[in-house]
Amino acid sequence: GATIGILGGGQLGRMLSVAAARLGFRTHIFEPGANPPAGQVCDTVTTAPYEDKAALLAFADAVDLITFEFENIPTTALDILESHRPIHPNREALRVSQDRLVEKEFLQSLGLATAPFAAVDSLANLNNAIARIGTPAILKTRRFGYDGKGQVRIKTPGEAETAYASMADAPSILEGFVDFSREISVIGARNSDGAVSCFDPGENIHNDGILHTTTVPAQISNALRTDAVLLAGRILNALDYVGVLGVELFVTDSGLIVNEIAPRVHNSGHWTQNGCVIDQFEQHIRAVSGWPLGDGQRHSDVEMLNLIGEDITMVPALAKERNAAIHLYGKADVKPGRKMGHVNRLLSKP
Ligand code: ATP
Ligand code: MG
Ligand code: MG
Repeated sequence: GATIGILGGGQLGRMLSVAAARLGFRTHIFEPGANPPAGQVCDTVTTAPYEDKAALLAFADAVDLITFEFENIPTTALDILESHRPIHPNREALRVSQDRLVEKEFLQSLGLATAPFAAVDSLANLNNAIARIGTPAILKTRRFGYDGKGQVRIKTPGEAETAYASMADAPSILEGFVDFSREISVIGARNSDGAVSCFDPGENIHNDGILHTTTVPAQISNALRTDAVLLAGRILNALDYVGVLGVELFVTDSGLIVNEIAPRVHNSGHWTQNGCVIDQFEQHIRAVSGWPLGDGQRHSDVEMLNLIGEDITMVPALAKERNAAIHLYGKADVKPGRKMGHVNRLLSKP
């Protein structure tokens, strides 16, 4: 069988490797950090920094195609890899999703609603942005933010100076605070034939900027459910996307607002492992390897609970629950805020 190269060896790379193995593929992980979670389940690991050109070339030579589990791959590494092997999803999807400013401009160009925003690279233009957008607002780094890191809330204009200082001169974006009733996400897939399949939108609850639970079905109207899925399809088609994409949405009185997109399998799609016959990981492997997409229809109601840091101590009790599927990432060190695993609780069975 073919070998799939995966950039990034975290839990997403691990679950992609397991899905790939089930379909008869080999996986080769490229990861700068030592002892990556994916290393325990894949066929080969290359441990090297993204600056190591020889290691990148050897990796590319050893695989048939390349995909990734995180979006912040340096452009220089992508240039080297792309000249040797196909990369799915494509460079445009990465370019758009690596930078919150480019991402919002792209979404608006598709006619999709976003929070009001302004680029910020000085205290003076932060103050101008606040004058235009108002408070409350959120200042976020344009790049490299995740799990709510690299962002600060601004409740009143007087907080601008402290907020600006906390960004340490990183290029930033000010977003108006969206008054949402719920947060939902759509996990969508597209293959190279242009077939699109979206999973049922999940409803997300965050604690301290980190995803806490995803529940399906989301408590939204069928009209909004359809809007959410069509909007995800629009994004997938516009990017000529191949693979799985996560779209985070705010539900407001005036409809759906796109928060951000992630060009990869997504934490809020983990429920699909036990709620669908074909989960997001298999769907991604199918898409990037030129297979037909599977049927992503949901067969059960599910609550996905992230096990973060010391939550891992819940495992013995969870293991006694019937219909609680436990997924652990094999991480040795427990740290606050670190995603250690998740559990999918089946809420209903037909
Ligand atoms: P992720 O781990 O999902 O990539 P992130 O670090 O990229 O997270 P965001 O998704 O931008 O961060 O924000 C984290 C959470 O903060 C959101 O899920 C939402 O709850 C809240 N939030 C972010 N932006 C806004 C906004 N403009 N208005 C209201 N709430 C917001
Ligand atoms: Mg994000
Ligand atoms: Mg987010």
